Amino acid sequence: MGNSESTLMSEINRPLEQADPEIAEAIRLDVERQNHKILLIASENYVSKAVMEATGSVLTNKYAEGYPLKRYYGGCENADTVETIAIERAKELFGAEHANVQPHAGSQANMAAYFAFLKPGDRILAMELAHGGHLTHGSPVNFSGTLYQSCAYGVDPETELLDYDKIQQLAEECRPKAIMTGATVYPRYIDFARFRKIADSVGAVLLADIAHTAGLVAAGEHPSPVPYCDAVTFTTHKTLRGPRSGIVLCKAEHAKAIDRAVFPGLQGGPLVHVIAAKAVCLKEAMQPSFKDYQRQVKLNARALAEELANRGIRLVSGGTDTHLMLVDLTPLGITGKAAQEALDEVGIVANKNMIPFDTQKPMVTSGIRIGVPCVTTRGMKEPEMAKIADLIMRCVTNLGDSAAEVAVRESVAREARALADAFPVYPV
Ligand SMILES: *Cc1c(COP(=O)(O)O)cnc(C)c1O
Repeated sequence: MGNSESTLMSEINRPLEQADPEIAEAIRLDVERQNHKILLIASENYVSKAVMEATGSVLTNKYAEGYPLKRYYGGCENADTVETIAIERAKELFGAEHANVQPHAGSQANMAAYFAFLKPGDRILAMELAHGGHLTHGSPVNFSGTLYQSCAYGVDPETELLDYDKIQQLAEECRPKAIMTGATVYPRYIDFARFRKIADSVGAVLLADIAHTAGLVAAGEHPSPVPYCDAVTFTTHKTLRGPRSGIVLCKAEHAKAIDRAVFPGLQGGPLVHVIAAKAVCLKEAMQPSFKDYQRQVKLNARALAEELANRGIRLVSGGTDTHLMLVDLTPLGITGKAAQEALDEVGIVANKNMIPFDTQKPMVTSGIRIGVPCVTTRGMKEPEMAKIADLIMRCVTNLGDSAAEVAVRESVAREARALADAFPVYPV
């Protein structure tokens, strides 16, 4: 072996700390951040070491355009094994007739569903972004609002719940080719059976995007859209606690259209390493402990919502059925932006969020969205939710610069750190 070749081989096998200390350091700092802070971002979670190992595996090197046993490249035998297992697990876990596990993310899964069923210019009825919908549900700044015509439903101003009679009426007015259900910020159950009736009454395809609730649905802790929908899309990295990615489920009759939409329609080679990690997370989601986890997620969300309400906080729709809640800060006279920044400083991470009929701008907002998947993965239960409610309230009601208020925030920061450290996540 020549000198340059052996140098190359030793370079390939160098650990990250040696190969790229700057990036290694940023990762190390984020392990610390994730360990020592209370993470309440509803769309995040902590994945297992097994999921990370698969994501970090040599399968990242493999090109596998096509589908198992129908590839455009040689050497795909292990990729076939991985993808076939992932497909079978997805079908079994969700009771679906067909699964495509190749979408790179939730947005790509939605794009595939639209591409399979719609032509440019067709109309989609979906939830308004400002009321909790997703960018890919027809927002004008997104491909979905550019390629397709969108009409939107929101929540009722009084109850802040979906008003199905109103949605029926809107469907009759706008005659959509597809109805998209599901949301990014909706704390209540969605009635997919009712949506099916609405879709049937206007001859529309019914799609559900359960990016947020996929883990709850898998565990039987949220009604499943699978029996009612032509296709169901989701991310695997939110409540499902897998790698950053997406999946599309559909009825057998749509299998070809969905598969063709993903590849060659929208993507090139699949991320085989991420498909491996999806298979791992789907296996984890089949274990009894995952059911226990999702049950506790709901108990924790309800407990945190009640504890916040007991302290005078107004929650949009009055509470939650899921893993998340939306706090209306208007009665406290503060913005989502101010609350998010103050909470981050005391080691509590949440995101500012528009509330329905918000009068503030999207970068300011009147709300914060709070989710419990991360803290529940750490093992926290109802007593810790009471503590978190207490910390949040003490922080957001003491935003000023007076010595007394700064002292309150300093003690909140100490207590938040102690709470996090009592529930360790990743070893260092
Ligand atoms: C998070 C989310 C997505 C998008 O997922 P990405 O993986 O970020 O592309 C799509 N739809 C809904 C409802 C979501 O909450």
